[in-house]
Amino acid sequence: MSNEVVEALEVWIDQDLCTGDGICVQYAPEVFELDIDGLAYVKGDDAELRQAPGATVPVPLPLLTDVVDSARDCPGDCIHVRRVSDSVELYGPDAE
Ligand code: SF4
Repeated sequence: MSNEVVEALEVWIDQDLCTGDGICVQYAPEVFELDIDGLAYVKGDDAELRQAPGATVPVPLPLLTDVVDSARDCPGDCIHVRRVSDSVELYGPDAE
């Protein structure tokens, strides 16, 4: 087993289920942004939105709590946070 303190995580949004309420943007505006289509997208540290379906961005460690809270409170159940190493979802609708 790895002894690393924190595993690298990434996050993506299923826009098909996004309600556009903007809760995620309130929690973590560094990672989520509403586009002009009214749907939320993940955003990289270059401030560019990732608009390809299923596109992910890394979860910055200082924002982990905000991103996890977003996934928990997302009314569309469409924020997915997964482990980079094996793509297992840890927070979100497909987490165990
Ligand atoms: S919280 Fe969920 S449903 Fe609301 S804007 Fe963000 S991704 Fe969309």
